[in-house]
Amino acid sequence: MSLPDNREAHSALTAPPLQRYDLLGPEEELTDFIEKVAIPLHWLAEDGIILWANAAELELMGYTREEYVGRDVREFHVDASVIEDVLQRLINHESLNAFEARLRRKDGSIRDVSISSSVLRVAGRFIHTRSVTMDITEKKRASELQERLAAIVESSDDAILSKDLNGIIQSWNRGAERIFGYKADEIVGKHISTLAAPDTVDEFPNILDRIRRGERVDHYRTRRKTKDGRILTVSLTVSPIRNSSGAIIGASKVARDITEHEQQERAIREANAALTRANSDLQQFVYSASHDLQEPLRMVAAFSGMLKKKFAGKLGPEAEQYIDLTVEGALRMEQLLRDLRSFAQVTLGGEEPVEDVDAGAMLDKAMDNLVAVIRESGACVTRSVLPRLRIHEFQLEQLFQNLIGNSIRYRSEAQPRIHVAAEILDKEWVFSVADNGIGIEPQFKEQIFGMFKRLHSTAEYPGTGMGLAICQRIVDRVGGRIWVESEPGKGSTFFFTIPRQPN
Ligand code: ADP
Repeated sequence: MSLPDNREAHSALTAPPLQRYDLLGPEEELTDFIEKVAIPLHWLAEDGIILWANAAELELMGYTREEYVGRDVREFHVDASVIEDVLQRLINHESLNAFEARLRRKDGSIRDVSISSSVLRVAGRFIHTRSVTMDITEKKRASELQERLAAIVESSDDAILSKDLNGIIQSWNRGAERIFGYKADEIVGKHISTLAAPDTVDEFPNILDRIRRGERVDHYRTRRKTKDGRILTVSLTVSPIRNSSGAIIGASKVARDITEHEQQERAIREANAALTRANSDLQQFVYSASHDLQEPLRMVAAFSGMLKKKFAGKLGPEAEQYIDLTVEGALRMEQLLRDLRSFAQVTLGGEEPVEDVDAGAMLDKAMDNLVAVIRESGACVTRSVLPRLRIHEFQLEQLFQNLIGNSIRYRSEAQPRIHVAAEILDKEWVFSVADNGIGIEPQFKEQIFGMFKRLHSTAEYPGTGMGLAICQRIVDRVGGRIWVESEPGKGSTFFFTIPRQPN
């Protein structure tokens, strides 16, 4: 065996020179090399039995020499057909270069390898293969990942492109073709400002400067021009691209076409404004109408009363009953108009409150308004300590008045007992008005808050079905919630929340 021998020249510089094979013979030196070289090597017999393997091969496979040498190489291959084919081709005098296969290690993990192999023959006899195995698992994984990423970029609906630090476009995906109309080969190599809308040309140097400083540009809304001259609204995210040593070499850019989205946003804004205007007009109308209708209604009630008085005994019982019904109807309608007016008033709102109000004082006012029914029913209203909070005075008063009024109206046989309380829960005040009245069936717990929703006839319990709808509207306006917990026959507790930080 002859090896290239440069060592004599080298050792001439370092005295005293050792003679080349003084310590190690050439065969030992070669054996050491193939044993220790970091590339896995093995020999196979014609039948596939492993005759020899070096340390790197044993390490790759995770076996000791005793466990590995002497076994059939097929045992270690994941794909039987691949190794059969390899062996067959070697037997048929072929040499294999970079043949890809998958090997199973002792710990069960799979490695992707590339095998190159040829056969040593002596006098035409198959002595053994000379097989070199390269572990390409990581490389393969990396290239698969790269392929996957490239596929994602390609299939994205967004435009994804890259440019160098001079703003020259380097890559261009299908999304970019679709959005801007240029094919990759038309635009790669051109300056990014090709896409500028007339009033955005100045942005480009600025964006490139930020990229050079390593900054990102996130969700930047701007305009760009397509190949056919259309102006698009796009949302841009531009990020620096670094090379393996961390130096910034360019930028990647994701552009999303939000032209349609922006048009939709504008349409929604306009529709919302129109709706708010219409709603406000409607509330204004309800408010005025309910106010203006009160007067003629009062006249109907007053003149019916006068009719009855003036012609008492002359009209006959039937006519008198009709007059009574007319008066009753007028009074009910008056109540209805009053409630409608309150409802419209809540919605119209007006100025936001600037000061905290004392909930206890509002409860007092509500009870003053209800003094007659409280006295007549013998109701006992108690309270816990109530807070000061930011809400329109009349709204809180109205909440208490409607809820306590209902607790009295929907009382049971027992003396009405009503308790008003408030506690802090997280960012809200939670108020409760608990009674011992008739209670509410679970299936009606939500619908009672609707307008004109009543569970009883007017003959059983007078009312308009507006009270809870007004309460709902009030808490909606301040960003709170209202609900009821109740058991029929045992009473109800109405809860409403008011944010501690006004919204
Ligand atoms: P109204 O009381 O004028 O009918 P509301 O909107 O105030 O209108 O109430 C709707 C319905 O909810 C009432 O008709 C009644 O059936 C039920 N309700 C409200 N409050 C109570 C309560 N405290 N106990 C039992 N039922 C109640």
